[in-house]
Amino acid sequence: MELAKLFIDGAWCEGSSGRSGKVIDPATGETFASVTHAAPADLDRALSAARRAFLEWRLVSPYERSKLLRKAANLLRDRAPDIAALMTREQGKPLAEALGETIGSADHIDWYAEEGRRAYGRLIPARAPGVRQIVIKEPVGPVAGFSPWNFPVSQAVRKIAGAVAAGCTIIIKCPEETPFSPIELVRCFADAGVPAGVVNLVFGVPAEISEYLIPAPQIRKISFTGSIPIGKHLGQLAAAHVKRATLELGGHSPFIVCEDADPEDAVKLGLFLKYRNAGQVCAAPSRYYVHERHYKRFVDAFVAGSESLKVGPGTEAGVQMGPLANSRRLDAMQAFVTDAESRGARVLVGGKRIGNQGNFFAPTVLVDTPDDARLMVDEPFGPLAPIAPFSRLDDAIARSNSLPYGLAAFAFTRSERTSTLLGEQLESGMVSINHFGIAAPETPFGGVKESGYGSEGGVEGLDAFFQTKFISELGLKDAAA
Ligand code: NAD
Repeated sequence: MELAKLFIDGAWCEGSSGRSGKVIDPATGETFASVTHAAPADLDRALSAARRAFLEWRLVSPYERSKLLRKAANLLRDRAPDIAALMTREQGKPLAEALGETIGSADHIDWYAEEGRRAYGRLIPARAPGVRQIVIKEPVGPVAGFSPWNFPVSQAVRKIAGAVAAGCTIIIKCPEETPFSPIELVRCFADAGVPAGVVNLVFGVPAEISEYLIPAPQIRKISFTGSIPIGKHLGQLAAAHVKRATLELGGHSPFIVCEDADPEDAVKLGLFLKYRNAGQVCAAPSRYYVHERHYKRFVDAFVAGSESLKVGPGTEAGVQMGPLANSRRLDAMQAFVTDAESRGARVLVGGKRIGNQGNFFAPTVLVDTPDDARLMVDEPFGPLAPIAPFSRLDDAIARSNSLPYGLAAFAFTRSERTSTLLGEQLESGMVSINHFGIAAPETPFGGVKESGYGSEGGVEGLDAFFQTKFISELGLKDAAA
């Protein structure tokens, strides 16, 4: 059976303990490959390699680093169809989505390639003549990255490309459920000529790896994308060792349709964002608040759109929504629906698993879901759409802000004034109004409140891999002069 390997110090290898896990096709439930697990001895090798390579890579000019990154981006584009096929097999999303993710990831590499060349410092006017006060940005050091299974390539690429562009090295633990597409991403960097030890890839038991890597003295920064509970745990581990952390965690995104909005446009985007990647998107809308004027029309259209969605294996032509990525999500969806129904919610469409093979769950629309139902409080991370009416915009904003998270928020309005108000008042790291406008490489992606801290993307994304150094020098005459 095919084995997903580790990449340590420029070589593909098996874990030294001989342990491995299964890789399962979410469309069939069948095991089709296994993934080798890193043991402490393997992590030690990765740590030494990342430290050794850092001392050299930090001195390579941003211009040279940029050339290698661009090469990696082009390789990723060339190989995208094959990588997308691997992604669909292991993660389940429709092929077109997998292809879009892979090609989009090449854009992220290009962005970091360019932005790495603009890591400017500054000169601060001094108080005394002859003094130069210089601020420079230095790469922070070897990074421990942890990326999730929902976007196996596009989540990993932000960490790898950001670190590499800044002059850091990285040990990234990619998801054990979806190892093969990130392996091919890492191969693009290796084949582009990024030196051994700069990018290292490991798999294993997540808790064992994070608890080993984060305290290791070689690691100077962590970057994690995943659930809030695990993010809190890793954030505490990093804090205990005074290590910088970027935490991109979950959310519970509101989608507000105002009285003056065009409901047709809102439904179209609402459906697209809900069912993309079967709802397993940290920034997917998960609570729809619709003004009572449009409520009935919006619900009817959303139900019709959900019913007509073609659900099936991501490899099949015309499929719009694939299976959930793992069986844990199936159980989680069923639990959300059962809890909501027990509190008075009505399921208008879906609400259950489709068939008994693979992790297919029907696109689901619920109404009358009380605000204290688990679905309205915990991130569903799946194809569930609770829709609720509102009459006053203030109430919709207050309900949107009522949870301890704030990653993304969406709204539809034709009023410039309302648009400004929503942009200012929604407690969210990102607000997208009248369209889907988040997650581009050049814009910051990140949350507020318990959705995390730090950003990936934008100048902020690169900055996360730098530390600031201040140098004050008083120019003296050369001794020889
Ligand atoms: P989980 O909380 O067990 O794991 C979330 C992610 O963290 C996974 O990728 C996992 O491999 C990793 N992880 C788990 N324990 C870890 C540890 N001790 N050290 C390092 N990494 C660790 O949950 P799950 O069942 O995999 O996913 C369910 C929830 O995770 C979802 O409900 C969603 O909220 C969240 N999630 C968020 C994102 C995101 O993009 N922000 C991505 C995937 C999952």
